Amino acid sequence: MNKNSSNIMALAPNTSNKRETVCIFGTGDFGRALGHKMIQSGYPVVYGSRSTQISNLVPKDAEVLSHAEAAQKAAIIIIAIQRQHYNFLIPLAEILRGKVLVDISNNLKLNQYPESNAEYLAQLLPGSRVVKAFNTVSAWALQSGTLDASRQVFVCGDDMEAKQMVMNIVRALGLTPLDKGTLSAAQEIENYPLQLFPMWKFPIFLSLGLTVFFFFYCLALDVIYTYIYEKNNFSFFIAITIPNRVCPVMALILLALVYLPGIFAAIIQLYRGTKYRRFPDWLDKWMLCRKQLGLIALAFASLHVVFTLVTPMRAFVSWRTSKGIISQALNNKTEPLDKTNAWISDSYLALGILGFFLFVLLGITSLPSVSNNVNWREFRFVQSKLGYLALIFCTAHTLVYGGKWFLSPSAYKWYLPNIYMLSLVIPCAVLVVKFVLIFPCVDKPLTQIRQGWERNPKHSE
Ligand code: NAP
Repeated sequence: MNKNSSNIMALAPNTSNKRETVCIFGTGDFGRALGHKMIQSGYPVVYGSRSTQISNLVPKDAEVLSHAEAAQKAAIIIIAIQRQHYNFLIPLAEILRGKVLVDISNNLKLNQYPESNAEYLAQLLPGSRVVKAFNTVSAWALQSGTLDASRQVFVCGDDMEAKQMVMNIVRALGLTPLDKGTLSAAQEIENYPLQLFPMWKFPIFLSLGLTVFFFFYCLALDVIYTYIYEKNNFSFFIAITIPNRVCPVMALILLALVYLPGIFAAIIQLYRGTKYRRFPDWLDKWMLCRKQLGLIALAFASLHVVFTLVTPMRAFVSWRTSKGIISQALNNKTEPLDKTNAWISDSYLALGILGFFLFVLLGITSLPSVSNNVNWREFRFVQSKLGYLALIFCTAHTLVYGGKWFLSPSAYKWYLPNIYMLSLVIPCAVLVVKFVLIFPCVDKPLTQIRQGWERNPKHSE
């Protein structure tokens, strides 16, 4: 049979009504949930258990036998038992010879044992064909049918045929198998359910740290300074004014931090003259969490939009507006429209709207359901070209809004720069270096390096 036809067979749904019996060792939570789902999908299920007394928790269409008897009835045996009890399988080695054993176990800690549970099982029963699968699906999700978040089932194993048989079952249960290769990938698959948002830790801690810093920076300059030197109590700024300063600043800095590692990577590649050497660990990690940094930046930008939209409802703003109107009425003089100011205000609003629109576009295209539907070039176009455009718009928005204070001595309270000036340091640095990097004399060698050219090739003739 040629390769294509075997692929088609593997992908085609099983049209025969009769499915092969599957054996499950262990009538615990997972064994029962999986058995239930398998019976619903048309598989006859036989349980291997220490007790053959049928409990009312076990699916009613399933048989419960001793381990040895149950194993003889099926070619595939799912081991729904914790690793520490695997020793009981050793006396069954002869019965299990040649059978497909599916290891679904998880551990309590990352890298708890020197080898993965599946590799340990394969060492205990060298005559069996061990496949790792199902460990990322929870018993609760199987039973309640809420599998949207965990529809993917990672599968790995050294025996291709055995792996294919397990993947067919995964498909028949309405799940999506993801072939992770040989059994050596089992450790990684077993660690997967133990990770708690691994890519989010650095972005969240960084954002929290910066937010706290900028919050207290604004508190010192806008509330404490004013209280000490102008005897004005603006403590209510804590609720909206300060958050509405911190949010745009955070959004801009985090967006720049999405593009900064790419700049570092380009400089390192240009300096080394090759792409075949690993980046330092910190840069690798930073590159891997760019999407998370971008999404947090988008959250800050959205908060800034909401805070800005509620501005006209604020008592302080209506008081300031009516004060202006009353003072004009008392002086019997209408202030002429300051056209320069009107231009500045319309410009920064327009730049902010465009920047936010692109920001949202970047966020949407980073969603797996959307990014899976665009090719690599389209994805790069949006994330890189439109991303830089968003950074330019947002930087310009801040420059036009905050620029008027840069030269004013009153903006330097306690000799400290205004928060808007601080927020522009990283974005401006990123944009300036990026501008240098797109010069043909720099861009050409960089493109060649990224295509595999080396300045000092190791293997030159
Ligand atoms: P469980 O409810 O404690 O069930 C384990 C079963 O193992 C018991 O019901 C028992 O079945 C059998 N067993 C216990 N001690 C034994 C021994 N000394 N010798 C032989 N068999 C023994 O655990 P579980 O939640 O179903 O988890 C089972 C496995 O699935 C674990 O490795 C776990 O990591 C994995 N898993 C669980 C989930 C989940 O959501 N629960 C998700 C993914 C993976 P009998 O009484 O019938 O013999």
